[in-house]
Amino acid sequence: MWLAMSDLPAEGRRLTFDDPAIWTVPLQEFGIPCRILVPLEAELFVVPHHGDGVDGCFIRGTLRGEVSLPCNRCAEDARIVINSDFETFEPFPVEHDAERASQQERLSSDDVPDEEVVRIKDGVAQFNPQALLWEEFSLALPVKPLCRPDCKGLCPVCGHNRNKGDCSCATEEGDPRLAALKLFTPTRKQ
Ligand SMILES: [Zn+2]
Ligand SMILES: [Zn+2]
Repeated sequence: MWLAMSDLPAEGRRLTFDDPAIWTVPLQEFGIPCRILVPLEAELFVVPHHGDGVDGCFIRGTLRGEVSLPCNRCAEDARIVINSDFETFEPFPVEHDAERASQQERLSSDDVPDEEVVRIKDGVAQFNPQALLWEEFSLALPVKPLCRPDCKGLCPVCGHNRNKGDCSCATEEGDPRLAALKLFTPTRKQ
């Protein structure tokens, strides 16, 4: 979905998005094990900008919803509340850059090109809100999701989920500081 900037009024336009495909299609494409728990809803306010040597568009937006990712420590579902406010300026590529980009695209047509947020096509500046919403969504995801801040993770010995109680390995390991003392004691001379 491309919006021609020339179709936008100078004072800007408010756009709302709730089509799950905006997020589910790239999630599937990139194989990200993320499930949507509360449907994502986004609002964008797009203002075209001309002059000062840079043409582009100012975008202010919100993205809300709830998703789940596997916990970084125990692999159980981690619920992630998406509640993001963002502001960005997307400059349009200048004409010769755009030509070069399209040449490169032809050269490397086998590769899947990154989804562009803005482009110049046939001399018309265009904006792709879905690409921006995907970018903002991926920025809102934590690098290391946790099911809870104090997740105890899995036992490295038996793989037991330590949030569901201790396994028998836990007591054997003991306190690492005491273990160090035990090693130290026999060699101590008085
Ligand atoms: Zn966890
Ligand atoms: Zn264990």
